[in-house]
Amino acid sequence: MKDEALQTARVIEAVENILEELNVTYVDVKIKTNTKMGDERVTCETTTDWEYRQASMDWCLPIVAVLSDLDLRRTAVHEVVHVMVAEMEMQVKDKDLPNKLCERAVENVTRAILEILP
Ligand SMILES: [Zn+2]
Repeated sequence: MKDEALQTARVIEAVENILEELNVTYVDVKIKTNTKMGDERVTCETTTDWEYRQASMDWCLPIVAVLSDLDLRRTAVHEVVHVMVAEMEMQVKDKDLPNKLCERAVENVTRAILEILP
């Protein structure tokens, strides 16, 4: 991938800006990137060790490369909200409907945050 460094820099800036704007300083978020395009088009996979206040985001750069700055920001907010509610999500991750309801709640909170952030 030719602009891997550029896309990685975009991801880091987007996530760090959101963490700062939402004052999510209580979780150590590691940002990783990959250039693999799997069958599933997943922009970012976020995992959290909530009991240790640690999270890891693995961003798929070929997908990031086609996102506008606004869509990347929206996705960064979504992933940060996942980090914020990880304790709750971990309780239902193997249950289909509760898991879908959590995803919906994350998206609703994401939309609300985007309404009030500059
Ligand atoms: Zn999600």
